[in-house]
Amino acid sequence: VDYFDVIVIGQGYAGLTAAKLAAERGLRVANCEGECMGGLILNINELEPSPSGQELSGVDLASTLALSNAESGVTPISDTVTAVEQGEEGLWIVRTEEEAYSARNVILASGAKLRKLGVPGEEEYFGQGVSECADCDGPMYGGKDTVVVGGGDSAFQEALKLAEFADKVTIVMRGAVPRARKDLVERAKGNAKIAHRTHSSVTEVIGSPENGVEGIRIQSGAGEEVMPCAGVFIFIGLEPNAAFVQADVRRDASNAIITTEAGATGPEGLWAIGAVRSGFGGMLTDAEADAVRALAALS
Ligand SMILES: Cc1cc2nc3c(=O)[nH]c(=O)nc-3n(C[C@H](O)[C@H](O)[C@H](O)COP(=O)(O)OP(=O)(O)OC[C@H]3O[C@@H](n4cnc5c(N)ncnc54)[C@H](O)[C@@H]3O)c2cc1C
Repeated sequence: VDYFDVIVIGQGYAGLTAAKLAAERGLRVANCEGECMGGLILNINELEPSPSGQELSGVDLASTLALSNAESGVTPISDTVTAVEQGEEGLWIVRTEEEAYSARNVILASGAKLRKLGVPGEEEYFGQGVSECADCDGPMYGGKDTVVVGGGDSAFQEALKLAEFADKVTIVMRGAVPRARKDLVERAKGNAKIAHRTHSSVTEVIGSPENGVEGIRIQSGAGEEVMPCAGVFIFIGLEPNAAFVQADVRRDASNAIITTEAGATGPEGLWAIGAVRSGFGGMLTDAEADAVRALAALS
């Protein structure tokens, strides 16, 4: 079994940053990734804000970091972690689909996935009008009506992006007021293509095999109605990727891992940073700050 001082699980921004800092300290570090390096920001063409303050795409940010990590001696492991277990003499065993590795410290930076609505039609029409990426799919909606579901930063950011292409973007949210940042809400309000629907839950995505999405069914105080649209973009929050962590760590109601300020999960040497952690601030700068704090506390 290969030994490392630190194994970082996840090559999203939090994990790449933690691996970089660990390498800078001269530690022997491995960084596992089960899917694509970059994580949630891979689909974002214009980070807003970007950690450097300069215009930057998610792919550029992540690949620059990954490249410099490779040069600094970080061992990349392209494999999905299936288990993290407490071994003997204070060591952790990280099992992937192919191998097992051991380390004194394990940093969980496995992030999150976009939460699904869980309504009929959502899965059926995914890629046929149901989308999680305005940058990728927006250009297909020129001259069409679209819906963005959600009331947070990513819903508003993606609605503004989508409005560059679509005729109309209706933001549908359950609450009375958006949770998104004020500047994003103000910009959406000032955009003639963007409309808002509060107190409304999407109960179904309606469509046909020929046309894909044709509308959504909405439940509100006024009852039920069908809103016609060609695209539904869903940004209703995040689901932490933490199911592979069997160790006895505490989680919150949304299954995010509970940590101290520094990212300690409880058992010695097991840390959690970024979007997998309960109370994560949400932005790339927060992910970076998490990585900095965990590395400072790590013995
Ligand atoms: C639509 C949208 C737009 C956003 N725009 C911005 C923005 O403009 N500016 C900003 O500051 N923030 C933005 N954010 C927030 C930002 O994306 C997050 O703060 C950040 O990406 C979190 O990084 P992370 O590394 O914690 O998680 P992730 O990006 O989710 O990375 C986790 C990585 O771990 C991998 N992984 C998971 N499980 C395993 C496993 N078992 N084994 C191996 N690997 C695993 C995943 O494949 C993934 O690559 C946006 C978020 C969304 C949803």
